[in-house]
Amino acid sequence: MTGKYVQNGYSRKIYRSRRKKRRMRLIGLTFILILVCILTVGFVWMTVAETEEPSHTGYEAENYSPQVSGTQDMPWYLTLINKENHIPGDYKPELVELKGGECVDKRIYDPLTEMLEAAKEGNLDQLPEVVSGYRTSDKQQKIYDEKIEKYKKEGYSEDEARELAKQWVAVPGYSEHQLGIAVDINGATYDVYSWLQENSYRYGFIFRYPGDKTEMTGIAEEVWHYRYVGVEAATEMYEKGLCLEEYLENI
Ligand SMILES: [Zn+2]
Repeated sequence: MTGKYVQNGYSRKIYRSRRKKRRMRLIGLTFILILVCILTVGFVWMTVAETEEPSHTGYEAENYSPQVSGTQDMPWYLTLINKENHIPGDYKPELVELKGGECVDKRIYDPLTEMLEAAKEGNLDQLPEVVSGYRTSDKQQKIYDEKIEKYKKEGYSEDEARELAKQWVAVPGYSEHQLGIAVDINGATYDVYSWLQENSYRYGFIFRYPGDKTEMTGIAEEVWHYRYVGVEAATEMYEKGLCLEEYLENI
């Protein structure tokens, strides 16, 4: 009796311990299964997120080589684009459409519309129009080629026409318009440009190509071209009379 009892007790113990092991194995397997599920869902989500393109962009990143000299550490609104500084190869602004059909980086939409609204007082109470905002590389190329053709028709040689065009139109890949944070503004009268020169900094915009800075900017005076740099930088540049190249040299 005693022996049987002991044996029965022993068997029960083994049975219990096996049951425990089975349960542990089951818990372990369930845990691994859940982990695999989480990883799979995470991977699929990341892949979808990566392939989603921002709307309105016609930007072809493969057309660009990496930026020549570095402004990569700068915040987006201080990215320097000029003759020496190529647009970053992976630059893809998220665009928003303005009244009139032009697009800009959505981050400048609010300050730009506020500025244009305020500029009515210098524009016969009419809203100044953005006639050129974001440009794709193809669009920039087209404008550049058209300018060269125009000079050739005036009798200049191919090389001369190209040099002259460069003074007015940036070579594709070197235009601020490809950033989506620069605009060309048309007013009802010339007065709107005087208003913009005195007030644009309040909204974070700068008169990017003043006539007395051509040597540094590489572009002849363009009273219509405004570029966003943020209120802080714009105010300092306005107060000290600096162009973007000069400002960036000192920060
Ligand atoms: Zn422009």
